[in-house]
Amino acid sequence: MSDEKRYPVPESFRQRALMDKALYQEWYRASIEDPDTFWAARAQEFLHWSKPWDKVRDGDFAQGTAAWFVGGELNASYNCIDRHLPERADQTAIIWEGDEPDDSRHITYAELHEQVSKLANVLKQRGVKKGDRVCIYMPMIPEAAYAMLACARIGAAHSVVFGGFSPEALKDRILNAEASAVITADEGVRGGRNVPLKTNADKALAGCDSVHTCVVVRRTGADVAWDDKRDLWYHEAVATASADCPPEPMGAEDPLFILYTSGSTGKPKGVLHTTGGYLLSTALTHKYVFDYQDGDIFWCTADVGWVTGHSYIVYGPLANGATTLMFEGVPTYPDASRFWNVVDKHKVNIFYTAPTAIRALMGLGDEAVTKTDRSSLRLLGTVGEPINPEAWEWYHRVVGDSRCPIVDTWWQTETGSILIAPIPGATETKPGSATLPLFGVQLGLLDPNDKELDGAAAGNLIIKSSWPSQIRGVYGDHARMLETYFATPKGVYFTGDGARRDEDGYYWITGRVDDVLNISGHRMGTAEIESALVLHEAVAEAAVVGYPHDIKGQGVYAYVDLMAGFEPSDALAAELRDFVGKEIGAIAKPDMIQFTPALPKTRSGKIMRRILRKIACNELDNLGDTSTLADPSVVEQLIEERLNR
Ligand code: ATP
Ligand code: MG
Repeated sequence: MSDEKRYPVPESFRQRALMDKALYQEWYRASIEDPDTFWAARAQEFLHWSKPWDKVRDGDFAQGTAAWFVGGELNASYNCIDRHLPERADQTAIIWEGDEPDDSRHITYAELHEQVSKLANVLKQRGVKKGDRVCIYMPMIPEAAYAMLACARIGAAHSVVFGGFSPEALKDRILNAEASAVITADEGVRGGRNVPLKTNADKALAGCDSVHTCVVVRRTGADVAWDDKRDLWYHEAVATASADCPPEPMGAEDPLFILYTSGSTGKPKGVLHTTGGYLLSTALTHKYVFDYQDGDIFWCTADVGWVTGHSYIVYGPLANGATTLMFEGVPTYPDASRFWNVVDKHKVNIFYTAPTAIRALMGLGDEAVTKTDRSSLRLLGTVGEPINPEAWEWYHRVVGDSRCPIVDTWWQTETGSILIAPIPGATETKPGSATLPLFGVQLGLLDPNDKELDGAAAGNLIIKSSWPSQIRGVYGDHARMLETYFATPKGVYFTGDGARRDEDGYYWITGRVDDVLNISGHRMGTAEIESALVLHEAVAEAAVVGYPHDIKGQGVYAYVDLMAGFEPSDALAAELRDFVGKEIGAIAKPDMIQFTPALPKTRSGKIMRRILRKIACNELDNLGDTSTLADPSVVEQLIEERLNR
């Protein structure tokens, strides 16, 4: 398809970029040939250590016991705040943009230091100590970042639970982590609607005996129920707390946080990350993948409830002394220009979002974008799902005015930081490809018999050696970690994603391994067929799954969401079938096309193909874990309107 399309690094970008092709290649080679020397140098350069490490790398990758900077001590909150104070006390650390367009705030590094220290002292007064777990259930307000950093400051591991989750999902996560405290707000505000966070927390906490403290931020002033023994208002507690809280020295391998995966492929896993390696990888990738330079305004639109928010709103940017923007609202409130109005208002230079948002905004037309200025933008990024080349091109042409390079960044909650992405001053891009591995990342592709493939090939994506921010455990369940990531085949990390490597060594994520289709003996990823469908002018979004087919083994079942102004019809279905045949080949033609006004997605915006597969296969009584579904009614409608086979 669009393999042939290439976008060289724009000359103007290259001239001021931090890293060019020669330097990327030199660093990559060094990181593979002599990892200890490479990572020791980076760890010195990027972080402050209160005690040096004894050994850069230790443990056994295959047994899931890899360890980094063993014996070293540091504190993540100190690294993200205190050490910047001599130079950056008055620099903005966080720009907060509220749900309403006239609501915003700038928080300097000095203020961040004060707020985080006070909250850390409040937690300490309540008996929270090093090694404890604290659950954070918050809207996108600065206090969410304060809470994460306050935990890091006293050595408690945080477990952030997305503010859109139900009391039941919250309870599961509190119980699983055995949290002793919860930090929440009276209500959240998103897209003009209030979310009853404290009420949800009360429901969840009714079943959680381990929690002795619930700190509540007043966001809307709503009336909330109160438990005098357990609950305290954030503003009252910090008003009397000391702003002096010395950071707890933490071992490099001490836990920093637990975070649950999105639940796209099954029940969410509680991924454990530790302090040293995680902070190093997030800082390094934030600097080089986003070409972050002093004074830049960086905006990652993710929620802090997802790993993207952890690594690229909070830890990576703040470790680098950056200015990071935190947005409370949604892309379409009050209207479809919101993202771009925020870019103009705060003169954002680097913008990082997800394909789901790009596709949604693309479906609403160019004008909402083109009527804004966006001249401050220098670089665009994407993460979360394969980005269809059509959406990539739109992002590049319309949002970036054909001026800004795009970094398509592949990574997972488990990887902690970006592992595959272009370095924008170094790497020619191809729409739809995350391009090349970052420093220290050794990728491989396996065939169905777990034999490694050479050269241009497609297979299951694996990682062959440890990297600093790799998963350290599934919380409380080492066996589940080994079984999920290190079991088949032995000795490598199994990503669960399929990928293709082209002649240039570029990687193209083809979808989840579970979703790979086998049509008449041809293995094919879902991403390729979906991208072909989206190329058609009538199609806004598409999801493809396989179902048992008597002759072909598997048939192609496509769910198609149409652009505004197009109506479902048999003629259109036939046209789309032929269109895919022309783009990819007759083998990929969908056997079934179900038109739908919406696709089932996780709360983090990813298409949940495992549910679509169940519907296509008529396995309706066992849909699996649906707790992270954004809108369950979408599934009901899909079932009602499913095609008979
Ligand atoms: P679960 O593991 O619970 O099924 P999940 O895999 O969606 O959920 P995350 O860790 O949030 O949870 O997402 C990681 C996955 O997102 C990757 O494995 C990959 O499938 C997809 N992904 C992320 N970035 C990209 C990208 N740039 N291109 C293609 N796919 C991506
Ligand atoms: Mg996953």
